[in-house]
Amino acid sequence: MLHLRRAAQRNITRVGKSRSTGLRGLATAAEPYDVVVIGGGPGGYVAAIKAPSSGYGYTACVEKRGSLGGTCLNVGCIPSKAMLNNSHLYHQAKHDFERRGIEVPTVNLNLAKMLEAKTNAVTGLTKGIELLFRQNKVDYIKGTAEIEAKNIVIATGSEVAPFPGGAIQIDEEQIVSSTGALELQKVPEKMVVIGGGIIGLEMGSVWSRLGAEVTVVEFLGAIGGAGIDEEVAKQFQRTLTKQGLKFKLNTKVLSAEKKDGKVYLEAEPAKGGKSETLEADVVLVAVGRRPYTDGLNIEAAGVELDNKGRVVIDDQFTTSQKNIKCIGDVTFGPMLAHKAEEEGIAAVEFLKTGHGHVNYAAIPSVVYTHPEVAWVGKTEQDLKTEGVKYKIGKFSFAANSRAKTNLDTEGFVKFLTEAETDRILGVHIIGPNAGEMIAEGVLALEYGASSEDVARTTHAHPTLSEAFKEAAMAANGKPIHM
Ligand SMILES: Cc1cc2nc3c(=O)[nH]c(=O)nc-3n(C[C@H](O)[C@H](O)[C@H](O)COP(=O)(O)OP(=O)(O)OC[C@H]3O[C@@H](n4cnc5c(N)ncnc54)[C@H](O)[C@@H]3O)c2cc1C
Repeated sequence: MLHLRRAAQRNITRVGKSRSTGLRGLATAAEPYDVVVIGGGPGGYVAAIKAPSSGYGYTACVEKRGSLGGTCLNVGCIPSKAMLNNSHLYHQAKHDFERRGIEVPTVNLNLAKMLEAKTNAVTGLTKGIELLFRQNKVDYIKGTAEIEAKNIVIATGSEVAPFPGGAIQIDEEQIVSSTGALELQKVPEKMVVIGGGIIGLEMGSVWSRLGAEVTVVEFLGAIGGAGIDEEVAKQFQRTLTKQGLKFKLNTKVLSAEKKDGKVYLEAEPAKGGKSETLEADVVLVAVGRRPYTDGLNIEAAGVELDNKGRVVIDDQFTTSQKNIKCIGDVTFGPMLAHKAEEEGIAAVEFLKTGHGHVNYAAIPSVVYTHPEVAWVGKTEQDLKTEGVKYKIGKFSFAANSRAKTNLDTEGFVKFLTEAETDRILGVHIIGPNAGEMIAEGVLALEYGASSEDVARTTHAHPTLSEAFKEAAMAANGKPIHM
């Protein structure tokens, strides 16, 4: 039995009525929980829902935020996608409808209402998890608690990484993190985004579409963050530049000064050289996230962390303590909600049966800009580094009938296959609906498919996914429509 933390019992709130749901009362030392999950994000809540159906009758999830869903539902994936979708519609109505024969005399932004729509999406979904907990007989414990349990799953997630060296302090008003960038009450005239990774580009796109002049400053020579194919990154930058975003690559921000309602950033070339001053009304610091274990009393529990603050686990998600597992952002791997979810399921399976599975070679990444960017598997630069002989199959959306019909032809699908065997090694898409389309690439990788397998699979006409098939045909021989 494990005893993680001491705190007052009064901090515990049970959600759900024990009589009507059939839940037992809170665990006691004499009758401990079978599984306690700490953290109600996508990793934690999925693990908590999976536990009862795996035979753990007495399960609880402890969450201190006040609502379930973690970073993802409260201040991450969901609110950012609400803003991306609605800002895209606004931008389309303003700049794109006319050529489609839709005349809207005036298009006005009601930012307060757009923010309210985002909040409603978040509330609906977080409440939905409470319902799932009740249906699956999971105790939701609000706050921190003294926990006695046979097994514990740590799923405490991540937090915004501060600016390196503390040279820039986030105030969530003028100098914001992604959390503040989801709450701006006014469209800034000028916005500087520090960091050209996924979160910076998504939030930069939102405010650019709503009217801000956005400059993205990136230390590296390319945008898109880790794992993006270089060719896709270049095309992506060209596309966003056409949409009005400005980029300063190979540039390092040094400091920020707030003066007369503005923020002045000092920046210099990454390799050193003459510095310059960038003026902004709002600065978004999007330089990454770091694992979160504050307040867990993790040392006392004997759980080992690595030098980046990540919880050290083995290949069954077990920490240095036998009965404590750990999943999601707080441990290794990409900080993605679907990765955390897969681990939540696998960790409970390992706990119960000693078997579980997450295929880290087939975890997709998506940037929800317009067009979207999505990929899975190896990039060209990976294959070059590994000395693998590969083939490329590419098909442009400009040659896809549905994209043409939709007047939405930016981008391409790119397959990377093993030259000798034709096995698919990576799929990279920039284009409309890439985030949905990549699921077919993930499935192909999971099944160890060849490009010929995909090329010989019927895809409905007219659909954007025909571009996916034709890229496979290109890798395997020749596409028909190009
Ligand atoms: C702006 C933004 C956009 C994003 N967009 C996407 C996207 O489109 N797709 C995607 O896959 N990922 C996206 N992410 C990343 C995604 O949100 C995370 O990868 C995901 O939430 C990680 O899940 P998790 O369960 O590991 O942790 P989290 O979601 O961080 O949840 C951890 C929870 O644990 C709670 N907690 C921590 N310590 C304790 C404690 N001691 N006691 C009780 N509770 C505790 C926290 O309050 C938190 O709610 C985005 C992130 C951000 C910031």
